[in-house]
Amino acid sequence: MSDTLFSKIINREIDADIIYEDDQALAFRDINPQAPTHFLVIPKKAIPKLSDADEGDQILLGYLLLVARRVAAQEGLEDYRLNINNGPGASQTIFHLHLHVLGGRSFSWPPG
Ligand code: 5GP
Repeated sequence: MSDTLFSKIINREIDADIIYEDDQALAFRDINPQAPTHFLVIPKKAIPKLSDADEGDQILLGYLLLVARRVAAQEGLEDYRLNINNGPGASQTIFHLHLHVLGGRSFSWPPG
């Protein structure tokens, strides 16, 4: 297990506003929200980034999308944006795979 900030949130060594948890995944509010609603969905399995996932993670990766959908509905979101930053060049700063879910405002495209 790598010792990232997100593994510390999973292990309750660091506080977070956790809004969903099950045996495979956790969702919590981003500390620096970029939209009125901004939460992160993470697997409990410590995959550093999407490009480190492999075929054995197929079910888990799909499951994370279902968790994102479930928590977005729980948060009352109809339209929302999902984002995964993969690697430093894509602005990933914490190397534990996470899906950003943003909602509550309109979003432009391309994202920049
Ligand atoms: P990344 O840039 O790696 O895709 O996203 C990391 C996200 O984690 C950022 O949006 C950042 O605001 C969030 N973050 C960083 N530190 C903490 C923290 O201690 N608690 C929470 N809840 N979010 C954090």
